[in-house]
Amino acid sequence: MSQLARDCLKNLSKYIPGKQEEDVKEEFGLSSVIKLASNENPLGPSPRALRAAKKALKESSKYPDQHHVPLRSALAVKFGLSPDNFVVGNGSDEIMLLIAQAFLSSGQEVILSRNTFSVYEFVAKLMDGRLLHVDLKDHACDIDGFIEKINPKTKLVFLCNPNNPTGTIVATGKIENLLSKASKDTVVVVDEAYGDYCEREEFTSAATLIGKYDNLIVLKTFSKIYGLAALRVGYGVASRKLIECLNLVKMPFNVNRTGQIAALAALDDAEFVKKSIKNNSLGKKYLYKELSKLGLSFLKTQANFIYIDLKRSAEEVFVKLMQRGIIIRPLNSFGLPMAIRVTIGKPFQNKEFIKSLKEIL
Ligand SMILES: *Cc1c(COP(=O)(O)O)cnc(C)c1O
Repeated sequence: MSQLARDCLKNLSKYIPGKQEEDVKEEFGLSSVIKLASNENPLGPSPRALRAAKKALKESSKYPDQHHVPLRSALAVKFGLSPDNFVVGNGSDEIMLLIAQAFLSSGQEVILSRNTFSVYEFVAKLMDGRLLHVDLKDHACDIDGFIEKINPKTKLVFLCNPNNPTGTIVATGKIENLLSKASKDTVVVVDEAYGDYCEREEFTSAATLIGKYDNLIVLKTFSKIYGLAALRVGYGVASRKLIECLNLVKMPFNVNRTGQIAALAALDDAEFVKKSIKNNSLGKKYLYKELSKLGLSFLKTQANFIYIDLKRSAEEVFVKLMQRGIIIRPLNSFGLPMAIRVTIGKPFQNKEFIKSLKEIL
């Protein structure tokens, strides 16, 4: 790498995404593949969003609304908050970056789980933060572990709830406990990318705590339950004061016009959300049953993916599944080399996955 790069770039690890379908088709000479690697919605995009997006494309010569007004207003109604409590990003990934840019100075402390979504670590390192990792406890975020590490110098805390890649949740009461112990100068980020899939009543969105804690940011996305991953729209919910800081670092036209319009339409697509939850719930039950029959160790999930501990190197299983046209996620890049993460697909996709897994094992 060129000597010209900032020092902290030398510690950055590259983001390792799920393998793309096209690449696997070409590499293994397959005519069709099933991708269960990136937690995409197997039902495709929300039909309402798609219709709106098609119309919006005709206006592609125009710049998008830099303040995302209609979308923020609709979100305000959905959450019973004000539009000033929302920031919209080019995926919630961008908001993670805005958070680091707005709040983290060189050398300041960031606390996060050891085995979790890698973008938190990426943005923290990019701004030259100092990382403190907390091990998972029983495969879930260990809030008491976070509380032990938190101190007046902690600038940022990242929590993934439900956690990617384990699908576990921590109860809202525990998050409130963390918030009550954190300094007012610590920004606490709760990423709820998979919150819409939760079935356990211990989960309530941390967005319900926004009025009470000025240092809390909750992240949500249109990439998963609304099926709009390609359009890149996510949002953050927080106190006005925090949102103001994020708007200061945000680029003017950060979210494309089609994405904003599609996301707005998706919010009205309750039927599609219901269908997606139903498909997920049925798929989950099927997979639990079949994985149990195979004697495999897996975690009950509150998200749209299942964590399976293979108790042997996952890489070989990953490659063999790929040869059979099924792409899953080996978790070595999450620091879990014996485990895989499998997105819950449509019934036939889940069936194909189980069939191939059985052959391989
Ligand atoms: C998929 C995912 C997101 C969403 O990212 P976008 O940038 O909104 O597509 C955020 N957090 C986690 C943990 C995820 O797995």
